[in-house]
Amino acid sequence: MPVAGDSLAAQTDFIALLTDPDLLQLMLFACPDGVLATNEEGDIALYAGASEAMFGYRPVEVMGHSYRLLLGDEQAFQSLRRELESHGQVSNYEIPAVRKGGAAFSAAVSAAVMKDRYGCPIGTIFYIRDHSGVRQIEDALRRNNTQLNHLVSELDHLAKHDQLTGLLRRGSAVEAAEDALLSSGLEREPFGVALFDLDQFKSVNDSYGHLVGDRVLATLATVMRRVARAHDIVGRFGGEEFVAFLPGADLAAVSGFAERVRVAIERSRLVISDDIHVSITVSAGVATLPTCADSLNDALRIADDRLYAAKRAGRNRVVNHDSDERRSAA
Ligand code: GH3
Ligand code: MG
Ligand code: MG
Repeated sequence: MPVAGDSLAAQTDFIALLTDPDLLQLMLFACPDGVLATNEEGDIALYAGASEAMFGYRPVEVMGHSYRLLLGDEQAFQSLRRELESHGQVSNYEIPAVRKGGAAFSAAVSAAVMKDRYGCPIGTIFYIRDHSGVRQIEDALRRNNTQLNHLVSELDHLAKHDQLTGLLRRGSAVEAAEDALLSSGLEREPFGVALFDLDQFKSVNDSYGHLVGDRVLATLATVMRRVARAHDIVGRFGGEEFVAFLPGADLAAVSGFAERVRVAIERSRLVISDDIHVSITVSAGVATLPTCADSLNDALRIADDRLYAAKRAGRNRVVNHDSDERRSAA
């Protein structure tokens, strides 16, 4: 076990070693950082450690020159000088540096102003580390991070949107509607809900195939998006059923919206070939908050009942009232 006396002897030996000029030289030149010392004017007086490998200059090319030679620009040089003047030292100070031949790289500088016994500055000692590797890794990480964020938002978009029509999927549409309801204030603003279902769509698939059926679905999505305002929420509810949530729309407004979609679909002709044009119609049921229902679920249920009433009544129509109510709009 070491005792105090041993430790003192070891320290004395160590200090003796440190004052050995050969050892000092070895320490300076084996240092993995660039080691520089400048005189009070900032002219290089020592150029050791990894300096030559880092900057590419041989000692004779830099001795007596200002250390400005090794820094990227005047502004960086001046700000490092100011920092040293006001604090006497810097630690891991990031600075643009330049190699012989002009290649720029990022350096981390630790430096301290050396003073004589009266406190007057006599020069500065610098340890300079090539930071370009770290910078490259940081840049690569930043790029990867950006790509990752991009990927996450793409995945989020994919998860929320139906691939065929580009509209929101059922869950995301309802979620967006709930958010819109919360922010508009359920009591004050009316809120329209419209459910659409293509008429006899199965026969389109049966007659022309699923790909034509898919084009019909995309057509309804396009029409709904075109008729909707920017803040309306349009979604595919599943299969050939679609939904629209219209913040601020009363029964007349949401009925008008559904009617415009119905008419546009009735007028659209999907051209399959020169002599085959597909005609299609759509039925809709509409409801509003707070007039018809207290909650979004209730409004959806009522709109669904009305949609089926539209089907029973012969399709290609909008129903905005229950069967025992008088028709008020549409
Ligand atoms: P109704 O007027 O009563 O609504 O009759 P319909 O034929 O439209 O209704 P039904 O529920 O009998 O058929 C719906 C069809 O929609 C059946 C299903 O194959 C088709 N369908 C659902 N999703 C898709 C899809 O993504 N692409 C295609 N092409 N067809 C789909
Ligand atoms: Mg259906
Ligand atoms: Mg249908």
